[in-house]
Amino acid sequence: MKTILNPQKKDWNKILERPTKKVGDIEATVNEIFTDIQANGDAGVAKYTEKFDGIALDSNLVSVAEIEEAISLVPKELKEAIQQAKENITKFHAAQKTEKVSVETTKGVQCWQEKRPIQKVGLYVPGGTAPLLSTVLMLSIPAKIAGCKEIVLCSPPNKEGKLPPAILYAANLCGVTKIIKVGGIQAIAAYTFGTETIPQVYKIFGPGNQFVTVAKQLATKYGVAIDMPAGPSELLIVADDSANASFVAADLLSQAEHGIDSQVVLVSTSKKLIDAVSIEIEKQLLELPRIEITQKAIHNSTSIFVENDAIALELINEYGPEHFIVCTKNNAFYIENIENAGSVFIGNYTPESAGDYASGTNHTLPTNGFTKAYSGVNLDSFMKSITFQEISKEGIQNIGKSIEIMAAAEGLQAHKNAVTLRLKELL
Ligand code: NAD
Repeated sequence: MKTILNPQKKDWNKILERPTKKVGDIEATVNEIFTDIQANGDAGVAKYTEKFDGIALDSNLVSVAEIEEAISLVPKELKEAIQQAKENITKFHAAQKTEKVSVETTKGVQCWQEKRPIQKVGLYVPGGTAPLLSTVLMLSIPAKIAGCKEIVLCSPPNKEGKLPPAILYAANLCGVTKIIKVGGIQAIAAYTFGTETIPQVYKIFGPGNQFVTVAKQLATKYGVAIDMPAGPSELLIVADDSANASFVAADLLSQAEHGIDSQVVLVSTSKKLIDAVSIEIEKQLLELPRIEITQKAIHNSTSIFVENDAIALELINEYGPEHFIVCTKNNAFYIENIENAGSVFIGNYTPESAGDYASGTNHTLPTNGFTKAYSGVNLDSFMKSITFQEISKEGIQNIGKSIEIMAAAEGLQAHKNAVTLRLKELL
């Protein structure tokens, strides 16, 4: 990791630039694949699965027999861990349900808001470099609690043309209605247009690499909603002498191992801690099986020394990290004043991995600075709000005049008439 001391504010953006490719670099490929799959459906999907995942599949639909086999292959210990994570994720997301909001805005004018599930949702579970079975839980559990009817899941097949048993097990456990072996841009294109096997959906959810993220953004141009741009993982840790350097190093490495385009940042008011973390990283890195990926991501990453907590906070809000760990003597200051972050982890005993798997919060979060405007996946992501109103005779008499005057001011005579006719009838 590079170490930068007291950078000037004007240099923050440059220092914290994400290692992601620009949308333009990937857009041409995404456009080409979308056009092909829109025209050729399953045949197009099969072509790109062979090209990018190196496997020719007769059918990409997961069968009941495959699910049954998967259930028998998943070790008991993993099943129990998945069960504990499922319980916590269920508790946290079920608690997000809200009551109907109903208000009489003027006597006789009743307005209310109710939520309805999105009927058809498409979940994307990454599988390129690691089979993210945890993402199955993070997406399908809230979809099920929300009441979505059709919950489809796509994930890229391995070289044997299979999905990992744990992904199939978790998907089946959490109520996914259809599982398909397809990944990358081709999965997102299939969700956008629908093919003979893959249903068109109303909203696409899930993280993925840069190809998946750009494809999701293109899907919106065709009228399909997305949860958010959830690209390569990021972690920013603010820590001082009260932090345990080996824990900080372990957390930084945990996000760096996602991919070479991951980014981890350490911000500290202590040079001593920065040095101790750097030594720990070198030590722990050697023990990791994904050392090559992790080393490259660490190479893209930075430790930043700043004079005080106020400067640190301003820099963090400017960066807007997906994951934010706070481990300082002054945690309350950061918690109260953080404006832009996907998910926050507090204290020496709250590793970011807890949120990735089993504490209950969702791990599908905005990256690349999108935390300034987007929330992570939550129960509401799977719902829409509908407003209702019912106006009595007294109510239309109470607000009718204002509507007539405003409609006339906009020059919309038919709008005005719709009220005038009713008011006349009530005379
Ligand atoms: P992935 O499933 O996102 O991507 C794999 C697919 O990419 C392949 O199936 C292939 O179709 C396609 N692909 C690969 N190279 C290509 C190329 N040159 N051209 C076109 N398509 C190509 O899996 P992954 O690659 O392991 O990435 C997972 C990503 O998800 C990581 O970057 C990780 O950091 C991120 N992540 C983000 C969050 C979040 O909430 N933001 C959570 C978990 C993981």
